[in-house]
Amino acid sequence: MPELPEVETFRRQLDPLLLNQKIKALHVQELGMRMLMPADPIAFNNEIRGRSITAVSRKGKFLILLLDQELSILIHLRMSGRLIVTDNELIDKHKRLEIEFHSGSRLNFIDIRRFGTFHLLSLSKLSKLGPDLLNDEYDVDALFKTIRKRTVALHKLLLDQSFVSGAGNIYANEALFLSGLSPFRPTNSLSKKELVTLLSSLREIMKKAVSFKGTTLIDKSYKDSLGENGEFSKLLQVYGRKGGLCKKCANPLIKSRLGGRSVYYCSNCQI
Ligand SMILES: [Zn+2]
Repeated sequence: MPELPEVETFRRQLDPLLLNQKIKALHVQELGMRMLMPADPIAFNNEIRGRSITAVSRKGKFLILLLDQELSILIHLRMSGRLIVTDNELIDKHKRLEIEFHSGSRLNFIDIRRFGTFHLLSLSKLSKLGPDLLNDEYDVDALFKTIRKRTVALHKLLLDQSFVSGAGNIYANEALFLSGLSPFRPTNSLSKKELVTLLSSLREIMKKAVSFKGTTLIDKSYKDSLGENGEFSKLLQVYGRKGGLCKKCANPLIKSRLGGRSVYYCSNCQI
């Protein structure tokens, strides 16, 4: 968390508020580990002040502030990062930094767990990401060639952002259920037809989750930039529903562990 739909929700809400805003200063309230790159807030501020935001973009789970003169701020929200635009200074003990604009408004970064990052000039990171699950075209043949060589469980493959980018644990579980594929299936056992089904399920779920502004779980760790809950939680078919009845066949759903993560699935519908 947040995954593609939550980051895309932030992007859509922030874009009209940040477009053409000229940066006055960066203010760091509490420096987290590896939070900034360059790590020194003064150096970071020197790079961005005076520049304007030309677009708010996204690739996978990265939110990207494009600045003039081809500079970019790459934001990764990690576990609990949130972005809020305010007209005045926001008082919040979990605020890590703010970017102040000449207009007087501010982009605030709130992060309880402190894993989020703001990195400058590291667009090279993005070249390692696989196709974005919402926006990019897939080369099915190339992806099929990749999975033929891999033996990891399917669930793990979906979390690998170099394969396709944007899915985390919630949407990986949901897409596997929708595709009728077991999270434990070795990747190289998939037919091309099954891969196509999986990719279209992923895209369908991402689109739907964006339209519901993402998923807020019981822990409330995600709220959008307006402080609202993501309503896709009501549409979850398997994630967090251990012992609940499968919506396709009414068998009880199973929760298990895979690679340190929780997987939820129906042993009857997913093979
Ligand atoms: Zn079932």
